[in-house]
Amino acid sequence: TAAAESQPFQAEVAELLHLMVHSVYSETDIFLRELISNASDACDKLRYEAIANPSLITDGTPPEIRIVPNRAANTLAVVDTGIGMERQELIDNLGTIARSGTKSFLSKLTEVKDGANLIGQFGVGFYAAFMVAEKIVVTSRRAGSDEVWVWSSEGGSGFEIAPASEEAAQRVACGTEIVLHLKKDAAKYLEAYEIERIVREYSDNIQFPILLVPEEGEPRQINSASALWQRSKSELQPEDYAQAYKQIAGAFDEPAMTLHYRAEGRQSYAVLLFAPSQKPFDLFQVERKGKVKLYVRRVFIADDAELLPAYLRFIRGVIDSEDLPLNISREMLQNNPQLAQIRKAVTGRVIGELETLGEKEPETFAKIWDAFGPVIKEGLWEDFERRDKLLALARFTTTSGENRSLKQIVDDFKPNQTEIYYLVGDSLERLKSNPKLESARARGIEVLLLTDPVDAFWTSAPIDFGGKPLKSLSQGDIDFGLIPLADDKDDKKDEPAADAATTIAVIKDALGERVSDVRASQRLTASASCLVAGGDARDRALERLLVQQNR
Ligand code: ADP
Ligand code: MG
Repeated sequence: TAAAESQPFQAEVAELLHLMVHSVYSETDIFLRELISNASDACDKLRYEAIANPSLITDGTPPEIRIVPNRAANTLAVVDTGIGMERQELIDNLGTIARSGTKSFLSKLTEVKDGANLIGQFGVGFYAAFMVAEKIVVTSRRAGSDEVWVWSSEGGSGFEIAPASEEAAQRVACGTEIVLHLKKDAAKYLEAYEIERIVREYSDNIQFPILLVPEEGEPRQINSASALWQRSKSELQPEDYAQAYKQIAGAFDEPAMTLHYRAEGRQSYAVLLFAPSQKPFDLFQVERKGKVKLYVRRVFIADDAELLPAYLRFIRGVIDSEDLPLNISREMLQNNPQLAQIRKAVTGRVIGELETLGEKEPETFAKIWDAFGPVIKEGLWEDFERRDKLLALARFTTTSGENRSLKQIVDDFKPNQTEIYYLVGDSLERLKSNPKLESARARGIEVLLLTDPVDAFWTSAPIDFGGKPLKSLSQGDIDFGLIPLADDKDDKKDEPAADAATTIAVIKDALGERVSDVRASQRLTASASCLVAGGDARDRALERLLVQQNR
């Protein structure tokens, strides 16, 4: 039309599209999952806005998703009766990538050879449709608006935006129609059985009906459209959960842990939560936002309602409350006492479930800990109430091995040992050659080797595990005296030799103000000297971190 306007894609989008078009990623099926997931989100959003503004739902149009193949035109359409997009939303949402992990994803994609696999793991949302379409036309009416806009693109460097024709505006009475002009080798997506297969595989648990509109015959529903978390555990199989996880979290890995239960009592709510087995790209984004979705009586309310503490932000899933008011505003969520109760109870359950997994399936738990341990450890620093529980969950690399729990470490204490020892540093390699380990090593004492940035924080306050204080070997006054040397069993204390006093005086003289003290040490067996922080001084690694952060 005359009013059509061309706009360039954000550079990242153009780059992503280029990579996708030229990649050899074979699992193109996922495009349908992505479009259906967006359609479902759009229906969720409309239902939420309609709580405050019922007139948004025109003439009782039910929320639904239609899939319409058209062999003559070689097109496949995905049509929803959701919230729709106005002109600027089309430009912003389909021309840029807002997700914070995308930059790092893109750099990974170009770095590694097997970039195609990463597409599968990350999920590229709407743009996945360009794997099967040479042209995409999106016609959309924002709920409550008279205007209908058309966004179209052939991939490449940009898109066009124009007002819809009269005919198109009538067709799209509400919501969004996405028409894919299929590439030659993507004609199979016109087949009803292919569409059904993909929907069953990826989208069966979408809450809204998905209708296949065949070229001949009546439209028919091809998903079961149940809110899976409302069903009873006994009728669900591991595959059902795996599919629900992928769909709810928009993930491509398998869940490492599934927690599904219904709370009854003072409050009723259903909980379906998962721990991923793979680390997402945006785990360490600054906002530390959670990803658990809040529903009230099957209606989606918010996906950032802080239903779990920030150190559990890797947990994905749904909490569906029976008691909260439907018209609760997103702003009110933060101070709602009912929600605070749910948060507390569910947090306890998640930690309990992780604990059980750690005991019963240590290998699965190790996967979770490897991916998310550094995040969970933030809780040691900021959740005083649950610190003991979190300490019991934690696994460490020590001088004796990997994945060691504090309980194991305490069980293996040497005779007369009363403290748990650790060293904080940047790399295992460097820590292992640290002279401060020598004396511990000589006595066979196990020492935690802490290398995550967060380790400097939670260890900076006094902390103990079951009454055994944690002590840094790089702080002063470590006394191994009563713990016998491993190769020297006759309990001889290695007192400083008589002439040590003279040596110390000479060194003190030479160093003057630059050190606060010089002492003879039992800590070294092979090195001549080492620097330590005073007994109450801040640990050196934290000192370094704080300096880096200019504090
Ligand atoms: P994501 O779903 O992770 O946000 P997508 O690339 O899948 O990323 O979609 C980008 C954005 O485009 C969505 O967040 C949404 O705002 C908008 N969008 C996509 N499809 C639809 C649709 N069918 N109805 C309304 N908005 C949509
Ligand atoms: Mg999406």
